[in-house]
Amino acid sequence: MTNQKIEEKIELLLSRMTIEEKVGQMVQRGSAKEENVAKDKENIKAGKIGSILNTGDAKEVNAYQRLAVEESRLGIPLIIGHDVIHGFLTTFPIPLAQACSWDLDLIEEAEAIAAKEAATAGIRWTFSPMVDVARDARWGRVAEGAGEDAYLGSMIAKARVRGFQRLNEDGYPTVAACVKHFAGYGAAEGGRDYSSAEISERTMRDIYLPPFKAAIDAGCLTLMAAFHDVSGVPCSGSKFLLTDVLVKEWGFDGFVLSDWGSVNELESHGVAANRSDAGKLAAEAGIHMDMHENTYQENLKDLLEAGLISQECIDNAVRRVLRVKFALGLFEKPYTDESLAEKVNLCDAHVKCALELARESVVLLKNEKKTLPLRDDVKKIGVIGPMSDSGNAMLGCWQSWGKEESIVTIFQGIKQKISKDVAIEYARGCEFYDESVQDFSEAIKVAQNSDIVIMSLGEGAGYSGENRNRMSLGLPGQQQNLLEAIHKIGKPIVLVVAAGRPLSISWAKEHVQAIVYAWHLGNQAGNAIADVLFGDFNPSGKLAMTIPRSVGQSPIFYNKKNFGKPTIVGYIDGEATPLYPFGYGQSYTTFQYSDLVLSSGTMKKNGEIKVSVNLKNTGKMAGEEIVQLYVRDLVGSVARPIKELKGFEKLSLKKGEQKTVTFSLKAKDLGLYGLDNRYIVEKGDFKLWVGPNSDEGLEADFKLI
Ligand code: BGC
Repeated sequence: MTNQKIEEKIELLLSRMTIEEKVGQMVQRGSAKEENVAKDKENIKAGKIGSILNTGDAKEVNAYQRLAVEESRLGIPLIIGHDVIHGFLTTFPIPLAQACSWDLDLIEEAEAIAAKEAATAGIRWTFSPMVDVARDARWGRVAEGAGEDAYLGSMIAKARVRGFQRLNEDGYPTVAACVKHFAGYGAAEGGRDYSSAEISERTMRDIYLPPFKAAIDAGCLTLMAAFHDVSGVPCSGSKFLLTDVLVKEWGFDGFVLSDWGSVNELESHGVAANRSDAGKLAAEAGIHMDMHENTYQENLKDLLEAGLISQECIDNAVRRVLRVKFALGLFEKPYTDESLAEKVNLCDAHVKCALELARESVVLLKNEKKTLPLRDDVKKIGVIGPMSDSGNAMLGCWQSWGKEESIVTIFQGIKQKISKDVAIEYARGCEFYDESVQDFSEAIKVAQNSDIVIMSLGEGAGYSGENRNRMSLGLPGQQQNLLEAIHKIGKPIVLVVAAGRPLSISWAKEHVQAIVYAWHLGNQAGNAIADVLFGDFNPSGKLAMTIPRSVGQSPIFYNKKNFGKPTIVGYIDGEATPLYPFGYGQSYTTFQYSDLVLSSGTMKKNGEIKVSVNLKNTGKMAGEEIVQLYVRDLVGSVARPIKELKGFEKLSLKKGEQKTVTFSLKAKDLGLYGLDNRYIVEKGDFKLWVGPNSDEGLEADFKLI
């Protein structure tokens, strides 16, 4: 990002700034409560606020911006932030669902659209992508990330940054991305949000840091520190993470934002005695902007005057903030065209992308006796369950400006799809979380009347996301009982699960004919699901997160280490294997993998080998397959994962068609963090697999020499 001319402008500006104005650039104010608005406005005019988040439309943003640009002494524009997590007005599937598409181009496109829509409201900064590797489905924030794998997560992180920061018509990034939450937030103990994580430096580097590095390498302009502590060091006061790794190792030259009040919370963590200490600790660790809580505004000037913090620490932060403001073109074009929103938001092209991504995000988990796609002889369809007609649930967590009215529900999607001679009946059956069973009888009648039942169950929007942790992973409320009651009627059941996390649906796997895992799919949920149910779209999604048999398995993930007793690591009261493994997902067609060929059985330390496989569509319809490449380092100086994803390719094949997929496997990507926590590539024997998921595949061996 660094550009000589801009650096000169920054230095010039810096030389003219008072300490109040400098600290002001390090202050962000959150969704203003009525009583604070007037004060915030005064502070903007005084140059004491550099950013605000969660504002209104372009008109409101322009009004704020005018205060900064036209009424403050130096006219430094505000940077306006907002959580655009899976769309702005056009709602895309939740990020975890999108990750199941493994479709990097489509994800990038969706983010470019989200950015374009957000920018119509003057929002030039999104607190996304959230790249926290998440292995514990109890944690509510699994919905916001790309699942359990560092490699897939890294590829998606890059795609998201590229999408958000795609250049606008003026040649500036449409919005600045903010990769979060640095780092290891997904490892919170017990899946409880904000709680401590115990992560060794090796695991941090192996598992949690790579997606952040990938985002930074893709040019991500900003980064957000996490709330929690890692092995006793709160991330928002972690010099190791924020300066040693991020700046010194990775060369990050954008700025770091705290999470909401996380500077101030250093006091609650008990690593700072008071807010002033907290401000000093965070600023010196490398937090350049304080989200909402005013700890910087209240303390940095005094700290400087008392000689407790250096001028350089403050100047460094200000430089970084200004650099991003210049990069976004805010000095040249601070205002937003107020007429844009109407033309851009929810336009046909955006909705079309939302539909495509929603379809690609759906994972078909079970399809006994080819229950799906639904055949023409189905004349009476029963649609049952609280998810069936809930628009709000499909908006998922972090709804941004998404509107319930704009959502196509599952019931609406199915109704629009069926011909006139098909009868359809709907019963909600129960609520998401209530214990009441009084509506069961109506649902049972609907089932009795049907040839097939489409049951849509899962979690409402408020059951996942920040601080929405669970201690069970079953269907909430009475939904499991409803499912069992309907099952007793004896009609075939297609279960559509829509949730913000993997749910342990073991009973359903054994008893229902077909399972479609649909997540919270956003705006086009109902159309996407109907397309899948009726075969207008052949499902191709693959799980980005393992589905556990039981909550007791959490955390569960495919890339576990080699154990000393690999065959007996399990439970006396249940199996240790997943219900559905990472990378798993069925199609209506079948694919045959054959002819796994390696260009060489040996790989030099800085070399590569080509791995190719033949893929044939052996079924009766066209389809897409996500071909996955995994490796295992058989002997390392530290215990190695039993499998690690190292490549994937999504391709579409017509009926009968075959294609060769070739991966370049590079030695530099096969290293590990050794005994001294440094990255090394070690020679030795490796296994690799190419297949349809983390559990199956053709196998070969090679040697790194
Ligand atoms: C969340 C962040 C979010 C911020 C602003 C915090 O509570 O942890 O992910 O960006 O709020 O809304």
